[in-house]
Amino acid sequence: MASEGIESIFSDILERAKVLDPVNSRKWFDKLRVLHLNGGLLEISCPDDSTADYLDKHCKSSFTRAGQQRTGHLITIDFKVDHQQGRQNRDTVSVAGGLKLHPDYTFDNFVVGPSNRLAQASCVAVGQSPGTTYNPLFLYGSSGLGKTHLLHAVCSEVRSKHTVFVTQLLNCEDFVNQFIRGIEEGDLSGFQNRFRTVDMLVIDDVQFLREREQSQEEFFHTFNALYHNGKQIILSADNPPGEIPSLEERLISRFNWGLVARIDPPGYETRVAIVQKKAHLRGLQISDEIAEYVARKVQANIRELEGALTTIYAVATTSGEEITLKSARAALEGQINLTRKPISITDIIEVVKSHFNVRLADLQSKKRSQSITEPRQICMYLARNLTKHSLEEIGGHLGGRDHTTVMHACSKIDKASCSDSAMHALLGELTKQITQIPQY
Ligand code: ADP
Ligand code: MG
Repeated sequence: MASEGIESIFSDILERAKVLDPVNSRKWFDKLRVLHLNGGLLEISCPDDSTADYLDKHCKSSFTRAGQQRTGHLITIDFKVDHQQGRQNRDTVSVAGGLKLHPDYTFDNFVVGPSNRLAQASCVAVGQSPGTTYNPLFLYGSSGLGKTHLLHAVCSEVRSKHTVFVTQLLNCEDFVNQFIRGIEEGDLSGFQNRFRTVDMLVIDDVQFLREREQSQEEFFHTFNALYHNGKQIILSADNPPGEIPSLEERLISRFNWGLVARIDPPGYETRVAIVQKKAHLRGLQISDEIAEYVARKVQANIRELEGALTTIYAVATTSGEEITLKSARAALEGQINLTRKPISITDIIEVVKSHFNVRLADLQSKKRSQSITEPRQICMYLARNLTKHSLEEIGGHLGGRDHTTVMHACSKIDKASCSDSAMHALLGELTKQITQIPQY
């Protein structure tokens, strides 16, 4: 293939990859150049190892798809470091030898809510005076809840405040790989120097240390060297120290020396605020009702929330139309199984009301006639079984009844369902209707 042809094919592929992955494209696609396109292999040059690693982990599939769309063939993508290019761009590598800081992962862009308040506050405190407040700081929580974002935010903060300060931010996997390379190349002291002389060591996803005895040993010594010199250590993992399988006791105890902060899945209000923040960062205009729709639809984690926004954005860009609730819903239709539809007590009350032809006011009233008591008790039973609400909350929705009343209702309907096949069938039918209600 002639080289000018390759340039233009690459530029088409790049454009398509940008549409497929608008979030990463803004930070990571700028400095990419084509090296070769031959025999189904597309080699793309990037300025440094961390960019190549990042692209390899997060963007390969977008490029593969874009390549296939453009050429009609399966293209293998290889991101390669071009050291020439790297030298020209050295000033863009911001953290000594480790990961490139993500420009969007700042404190300003992090939405704080009850689920992550402690983690965020402790990161802010460490960012202001590293090595003095919480050391080590250990963040944990499930995937996609903002651990990496907070680690980058602390590093950015420290970098802007302390000019002469050496920070290493890296994935635990990189730490392990560098350690192995150090051993293989007979340069363990080079490795040790690199990590034991920093002012702040930030290691993401330390659960990667599990079952890696030698790396744990090395990490233990690195930890001690830094800690005893008053250097800041920040770690993240998917579980608290004591629950990381086969992590040595001495590491568990050290990780617990400072502050261990948990990040929980965000509640509804926080999710709405995150959707709005992310949309704003992409220069997207979305109404409150769309943000609320997305937040209701995707509950599992924030990465999926962002994915939903990306889908809406991609569909809107392709169609060239303004994003409306209708188009947002249509865009997400393909992801209908992303999470189970959350059932609210209101959904349940609506279905029960129309089945028995009673009014909400009646269900919430003090009336004790059989024609009202039974639907009310069925509401309570279904709410108990189909939602995560507490007995008190359920009682609250049904006229402020206390938890013992709700408990009594649940056991009564439960018994009826076992002894009365009509009741059993009715509950099944109502459940079916409730789970099939469209969200809007
Ligand atoms: P983790 O490292 O816990 O798996 P990440 O830090 O990679 O999660 O977060 C996944 C995505 O969700 C990132 O794009 C991040 O910016 C975003 N995110 C997570 N929590 C928040 C938050 N509270 N406010 C804004 N964005 C968030
Ligand atoms: Mg992470």
